[in-house]
Amino acid sequence: MKVKQQPLTLWERLYLPAVLEGFRVTARHFFRRKVTMQYPEEKWVVPEGYRGAPYLVRDPEGRIKCVSCQLCEFVCPPKAIRIVPPGPAPNPAAGRVEKAPLEFEIDMLRCIFCGYCQEACPEEAIFLMRDYSFTGLSRPEMIYPLDRLLELGGTHADSVWKWRNK
Ligand code: SF4
Ligand code: SF4
Repeated sequence: MKVKQQPLTLWERLYLPAVLEGFRVTARHFFRRKVTMQYPEEKWVVPEGYRGAPYLVRDPEGRIKCVSCQLCEFVCPPKAIRIVPPGPAPNPAAGRVEKAPLEFEIDMLRCIFCGYCQEACPEEAIFLMRDYSFTGLSRPEMIYPLDRLLELGGTHADSVWKWRNK
């Protein structure tokens, strides 16, 4: 079906009314109270439930909660997560912790902050934090490795505490 294009009216073809309208909008905003922030000295306080960068967390005894199940890697729409599981042999130095990931990376340039990884995780090991301010000078720098993800995530004291000594 062909859609007929409406011709511009004389008023729309004139240059000056659009310029004057632009000045009117500028003048209106000029006298209004400004909300511009002096970033990075001032930062936006994000609301509760804000979905920022995904980080890994430790349990209250400092042990990694992730069990390398790879559900988050599977569910991640842009394939931003890469996990290398440790395989069948547990690491004796880790005590009761079995199957902690050997490698865990999140490409923050690929991540779309959807929160699927957090929803899929059975161990409550990955959370979208309220961090929206992260930069890097190169692409490799924006691929966060395991230790950095754990450092940024910190400790979560919740009910899912798999490796607790009974
Ligand atoms: S927030 Fe979404 S895009 Fe980012 S790592 Fe998690 S699942 Fe992938
Ligand atoms: S973060 Fe959660 S979902 Fe992802 S591998 Fe670890 S335990 Fe599984």
